[in-house]
Amino acid sequence: MKKIFIAGQWKLGGGKAIKSHYPADHSENADISTASSDDIHEAIVAADKAWRNPAWRSALPSEKAAILFKAADLLEQKKTFLAKLQTRDNGKPITETTGLVNSAIATTRYIASSLETLDNELTNQRIQSVLTFTTHEPLGVVAAITPWNSPIASEIQKIVPALAGGNAVILKPAEATSLIALELAAIFEEAGLPAGLFSVLTGKGSVVGEAIVKHPLVQKISFTGSTSTGRHLAHVAAEKLISTSLELGGKSPTIVFEDANIDIAVNGVIYGIFSSSGQACIAGSRLFIHQNIYDQFLDALIKKTKNIIVGDPEDSNTQMGPLISEDHLSTVEHYVNMARDEGGNIVAGGQRLTGDAYDKGAYYAPTIITGLKNDAQVCQEEIFGPVLVVMPFSDEETLVAEANNSIYGLAAGIWTEDYRKAFDMAKRLEAGTIWINTYKKFSIATPFSGHKESGVGKEKGRLGILDYMQTKSIFLNLDEAPNPWCETK
Ligand code: ADP
Repeated sequence: MKKIFIAGQWKLGGGKAIKSHYPADHSENADISTASSDDIHEAIVAADKAWRNPAWRSALPSEKAAILFKAADLLEQKKTFLAKLQTRDNGKPITETTGLVNSAIATTRYIASSLETLDNELTNQRIQSVLTFTTHEPLGVVAAITPWNSPIASEIQKIVPALAGGNAVILKPAEATSLIALELAAIFEEAGLPAGLFSVLTGKGSVVGEAIVKHPLVQKISFTGSTSTGRHLAHVAAEKLISTSLELGGKSPTIVFEDANIDIAVNGVIYGIFSSSGQACIAGSRLFIHQNIYDQFLDALIKKTKNIIVGDPEDSNTQMGPLISEDHLSTVEHYVNMARDEGGNIVAGGQRLTGDAYDKGAYYAPTIITGLKNDAQVCQEEIFGPVLVVMPFSDEETLVAEANNSIYGLAAGIWTEDYRKAFDMAKRLEAGTIWINTYKKFSIATPFSGHKESGVGKEKGRLGILDYMQTKSIFLNLDEAPNPWCETK
């Protein structure tokens, strides 16, 4: 039974144990204990003490950065192990999980470096006799709640800026991917992070997650996951009047113009939807192709999609692994059946893969659907699987209206050789991230945010640490005379 990390101690949690399974064959990875309500309270009280403790609060930026740099070095030393563990947890191909560990290392080093350049501000001196300046202060205890699809990257993306901002962090990973979160706890412990500043509380979202976010000492919720859970957490935060950062769902459009470089666009569109088996909030799941190249482009797309290597996630040639679980596969099947009912044509995939190793895991074929209108349910709801809907377009006004006709606004892709048109389109699309002639590219230096129901707040960016801080404005009087208001005439 796996112990969990509560306030600097490895302990068996008092909650009901959960299991981690390897999605490729459903074999068991580990039994994991989960946090009880007493464990949750203990971790949060210790976290509250830890961030207030001068050992962390008054540590020099370079002292905090040294711990983060050490953590980055440990992530690097354990890269192969962590990538394999992540693959065992969520079935993502090893090449992708290696990329996620690289991203975690780079994020940690970037944030550690930015700590030294985080300035307070001497604000405009409007009152002659008073010196005014604004400092950045920690928020306190941050609850980081994460999903199962890219945990190592999404967890580090929250933990590191929050710690750098002087906060303590309580991480509640998704049930399916607790193992990687516990390894992160071991890494920060070995890096010398003072006890209490980081705890990992495993367990069910509706029980453990809910108790964490509702705890009175939690001062910020940093969440990545579904829009419905995000909306619920926004309610919790509103009740407590605390801040949130919510990275939610998407149904992102990708647009291929007539003048696009077809080879580049085909590869980009395929990568955008089918990498991670489509289990990505940013998946480019709605494709609009200009009518004049529709047949040619669709043919090329189908041909290449049928060649995608779906299989053993531990094999470095594999492009698509299994879906996370049988339940999730049923959801994907449900949507594809719905597409059939709505009048869609399945031109690639459209069924689970069977035979040999496929029978052991939840493998679903990369699927392309045509013949639906943008207002079909399958074009509006997030499937979170390897399913692409394709629609033709002819005039740009209708295209923009349809691309923006979604409750989501996470990302969009534009494929054209005309950069003036691409830039104009980028300004008109309602999404937090726009990729032009590329897709799914990220940088820790560039903010990531969702428009509309895809999220609230942002993550990353050069000053990303400030998203985990609050300002304090200080007025220092330089006038020696007593306040005249109190002088009686
Ligand atoms: P997904 O469909 O990606 O699993 P969820 O939004 O259900 O998305 O889950 C994302 C994370 O939120 C997981 O760690 C999950 O356990 C957690 N979670 C789910 N419900 C709640 C809740 N009521 N309170 C706090 N965390 C929750």
